[in-house]
Amino acid sequence: MDGLHTEGFEFDGAPAFAGAAGPAPLVDPFGRAITYLRVSVTDRCDFRCVYCMAENMTFLPKADILTLEELDRLCSAFVARGVRKLRLTGGEPLVRRGIMTLFASLSRHLRSGRLDELTLTTNGSQLAKYAEEIKAHGVKRINVSLDTLNPEKFRAITRWGSLDKVLDGIDAAQAAGLHVKINAVALKGVNDDEFFHLIEWAHGRGMELTLIEVMPLGEIGAGRLEQYLPLSMVRARLAERYRLEDLDYRSGGPARYVRVAETGGRLGFITPMTHNFCESCNRVRVTCTGTLYMCLGQEDAADLRKPLRASESDAPLLAAIDEAISRKPKGHDFIIDRRHQRPALARHMSVTGG
Ligand code: SAM
Ligand code: SF4
Repeated sequence: MDGLHTEGFEFDGAPAFAGAAGPAPLVDPFGRAITYLRVSVTDRCDFRCVYCMAENMTFLPKADILTLEELDRLCSAFVARGVRKLRLTGGEPLVRRGIMTLFASLSRHLRSGRLDELTLTTNGSQLAKYAEEIKAHGVKRINVSLDTLNPEKFRAITRWGSLDKVLDGIDAAQAAGLHVKINAVALKGVNDDEFFHLIEWAHGRGMELTLIEVMPLGEIGAGRLEQYLPLSMVRARLAERYRLEDLDYRSGGPARYVRVAETGGRLGFITPMTHNFCESCNRVRVTCTGTLYMCLGQEDAADLRKPLRASESDAPLLAAIDEAISRKPKGHDFIIDRRHQRPALARHMSVTGG
């Protein structure tokens, strides 16, 4: 826990709080309040999912990566500016050494009421080890990425992962009292014969399932067109067997939900390709090097590491955050078709964490 403060919350010389009314919210040029920060705490991972990474990835040098203390300071600056939800992601967040100390220190914002939610997106491989501790730090809900229940397919998709370990991790998370949501990327010719099984398995265990369209991020050594499966087609196929009832429910993210009448469970669709969700975007993403991406689908970024390291005062950091939000783009321009098989962006999903 060295250097990570677990109590108190101080900013000097910065417009962190606008008096008793609380922090002035971050509002972008399109009037969207930015209340959700996703933080990629490492670019490393113990898997090499085919849609996310190339098999031989070059990872960042250690010196470029923010320390856990710096990540805490960065997250806390956003909380001071009105961010109410923090999600730790990666790479695989649970492979970062000492990551529990970051959960421990950030949990002070839950106790103070400045943060509504601290959460996690994980591949589940380390959950059996950490689930109880994560719960003890105030995390209530986590997302676990799982695209198949078939061990061989799981190995083929993740290249390095073991399905049993992930299933043990999910058991441990539920036993610890964490609310688990499963995220599955829809992959043409890979898991498209399994959606009924995945739905019934997840709903049978009281877990929500969200299907995600594959997005054109990073060079991965395989054609996107081969992987891409529009969820409009999946939904039509599911509707042949199930009664899908549209729900108004929103999780604060881009997913649209239905209730599957036959299972009683909730099913989400994240469709960046077939349905543009940018108009309600409330989020920004920061990488483990302190680069702030104002949009998942655009290159526009701001370097927050420089102001963070330049001064012990948070004033330059807060000013850099304000400046970055003032140029948040309106939306992404993802296209996958025969003429657009190259990545829309050079960076991999593991840089920003989805
Ligand atoms: N390692 C953790 C995990 O897998 O959950 C967190 C990081 S991972 C980059 C976050 C999410 O992004 C996962 O659900 C993963 O399936 C998804 N993802 C990765 N690459 C993607 C892509 N090209 N298109 C759509 N989703 C992607
Ligand atoms: Fe790792 Fe998650 Fe990317 Fe898979 S999707 S390679 S688990 S970061």
